[in-house]
Amino acid sequence: MFLKSMELMGFKSFADRTHIDFSPGISALLGPNGCGKSNIVDAVKWVLGEQSTKNMRALKMEDVIFNGTVKRKALNVAEVTLTISNETNILEIDAPEIEIKRRLYRNGDSEYFINNTVVRLKELRELFFDTGIGKTAYSILEQGKIDQILSSRPEERRYLFEEAAGITKYKLKGIEAAKK
Ligand code: ATP
Ligand code: MG
Repeated sequence: MFLKSMELMGFKSFADRTHIDFSPGISALLGPNGCGKSNIVDAVKWVLGEQSTKNMRALKMEDVIFNGTVKRKALNVAEVTLTISNETNILEIDAPEIEIKRRLYRNGDSEYFINNTVVRLKELRELFFDTGIGKTAYSILEQGKIDQILSSRPEERRYLFEEAAGITKYKLKGIEAAKK
């Protein structure tokens, strides 16, 4: 499983539809300060369901929508799509390729899609449980995260091991069953 490509449209500084292809292995984003490298990483977190504006480096979620420049007016919608290669069927959908999309309108309406079907955020999250991908998983380690993991209390650190061991989904299903 690997990130094959992504497409940003109206997300932060990416006003135009921007397509980025990745290959298996290591990719690096290079460019001068302020060119949008971190915005690309933000976009990956966002499409995976990030709800924290702080983690998006924004004051309110609408701030992720292109807010215009002197030459260009602001847009009303932001959309990010990830195409993930799933040849080994790690994601529990029987398809060699999976497309995840999130869209946000300036009026606050938001939509998530898996392979172009509208889904709830919960369904999107469940798809990535125990894969190491997702909002609280360990596939995105930004500046300061390693320190945070090393200095966290053992019970806080436990979720990383549970995710790696593949038991997150059973644990959460157990908690939901107990609520019923
Ligand atoms: P550095 O090398 O300094 O870390 P970077 O390449 O990571 O830089 P980013 O933080 O990704 O840069 O991009 C910052 C740019 O994105 C700023 O110029 C900022 O104005 C622009 N930006 C952020 N949000 C929006 C938005 N909603 N609309 C338009 N531009 C935006
Ligand atoms: Mg940066």
